[in-house]
Amino acid sequence: MSQRLVLLSFFISLFIQLMLIPMIALGQSKPAADLIITDAKVWTGDHALPHAEALAILGERIVAVGSNQEVDAWRGRQTKIIDARGKLLVPGFDDAHVHFSNGGAQLDAVQLNDVNNPEEFVRRIGERAKATPQGEWILNGDWDETKWNPPSLPTKQLIDPVTPNTPVFVSRYDGHMGLANSLALKLAGVTSATQDPPGGTIVRDAQGNPTGGLKDAAQSFVFKVIPPPSHEQRWRDIKRALAHAASVGVTSVQDMAVDYGDIAVFSELLDRQELTTRIYAAPLITQGAADQAKIGIRRAFGSPYLRIGAVKAFADGSLGSRTAYFFEPFLDQPNNRGLLSDEMHPISAMRGRMMRADAAGIQICTHAIGDAAISTILDLYTEIEKAHGDADRRFRIEHAQHMAAKDFDRFARLHVIASVQPYHAIDDGRWAEGRIGHDRASRTYAFRTFLNHGVRLAFGTDWDVAPLNPMLGLYAAVIRATLDGKNPNGWFPEQKLTITEAVEAYTMGSAYAEFQEMEKGSITTGKLADLVILSDDIFTIDPIKIRDVRVLTTIVGGKVVWERSKSAAGGRD
Ligand SMILES: [Zn+2]
Repeated sequence: MSQRLVLLSFFISLFIQLMLIPMIALGQSKPAADLIITDAKVWTGDHALPHAEALAILGERIVAVGSNQEVDAWRGRQTKIIDARGKLLVPGFDDAHVHFSNGGAQLDAVQLNDVNNPEEFVRRIGERAKATPQGEWILNGDWDETKWNPPSLPTKQLIDPVTPNTPVFVSRYDGHMGLANSLALKLAGVTSATQDPPGGTIVRDAQGNPTGGLKDAAQSFVFKVIPPPSHEQRWRDIKRALAHAASVGVTSVQDMAVDYGDIAVFSELLDRQELTTRIYAAPLITQGAADQAKIGIRRAFGSPYLRIGAVKAFADGSLGSRTAYFFEPFLDQPNNRGLLSDEMHPISAMRGRMMRADAAGIQICTHAIGDAAISTILDLYTEIEKAHGDADRRFRIEHAQHMAAKDFDRFARLHVIASVQPYHAIDDGRWAEGRIGHDRASRTYAFRTFLNHGVRLAFGTDWDVAPLNPMLGLYAAVIRATLDGKNPNGWFPEQKLTITEAVEAYTMGSAYAEFQEMEKGSITTGKLADLVILSDDIFTIDPIKIRDVRVLTTIVGGKVVWERSKSAAGGRD
């Protein structure tokens, strides 16, 4: 054999061996799945493969979706199997707007939301005062005076007798107003001589004396003197919030106006592998934008469990506190058309902050409720786009509650995401029309109109303002029956969504709103294994029953973080 032939056969055999190595490697080392879920009714949210029976998970990701038989190929000796027994399996819910540690704190706080008379209000605060250590405040509460008969704003005179030595600042459920007792007002230095701050109101009696009610920016008189929660308190609140989120199938949250102290706790929990809900944290634009820009943090920076790079701005107040900013006055207060927030005084200051945030690549999420507030923010977003050019910046408007007819097109053209909370529709729908009239109410929580204009929706709750349970939000979006039972066929029923549209807004819609649509939001091979098994098929049951559907199992990153059967005895939800 010539030398040349020897060389040639050597290269041919080398070539064959090189070809074989990867094939052998594939055949021998195809890894077995860590977890397989079989016999499920899988709703994937992925239009390429909308339905399936089973899926396989390796590590924290989905590696196969298909029939029981197809997925069974991933079974190994160590593979854990969950038999879903024909139950519905959906992508984990992603709540696009929460106040996470507040939610945890609220679960432990004095409960005032279901109170419907002043005597009960006083009784509960008095009970709590007895149990509150010297120096600690009574906070939260989530009272709602519209549930009282007749409705009337609570005053310090009501609660002073039961709280002589305990400072109290209990919040209205929407967070835009609080009630201080006399001790809290004294600590805050609020007297009849105190001027209303820009963007806020000190509620006064006929003689001009503060009644204890503080609206929007006026709340900061008291907020300034409340000691911040200790690190230990934050831990307790966030652990409580994580457990609750798992129990209701919420696998991701977008934490709006978050404190840095909370981010520190998230980070420690991440280290200890105890973060069972994925977090996208958006601190206030007034500090968060400059801080993040300084070190080059951009939108959606971080790991799948904990990301930053967004900021939360405030344009106005709320409808409930009559501080949402409208073009026309409130129907029942002809001299009041609401307030721009203190951050918007002057608007040029807000423009400057937004311009700098956008230039740094930080995502901007702006709370805007009244039609004029939304319009003003769309103006600012337009200016930013003009100044900085096209980019995939995913501007958001949080709440986007009362739309001017002229602004839907603009909303869509700017690709602004409507980050909305459907539960508010069935809650505020009880009284909204009385404050703003039929015409404006027809463009309130206008989810259908948004979709018709090609606006992307992201669903959330605003927890602790509304309950975190996604079933209530889906029910609200699909049924729109107000909580008082007065609109059984739906409050502005033309704005109802289908259950499919609602689930999409709560999964892919929210994932898109945090730049994570390639990572989660649907059950797709390669994506994070964030999954929920439900007690009933929300796509086929009578929609009125959606609110009663329970979460059976919650899985985050391939790990079971909640099981109803195991947790029922503990009653942790
Ligand atoms: Zn909020």
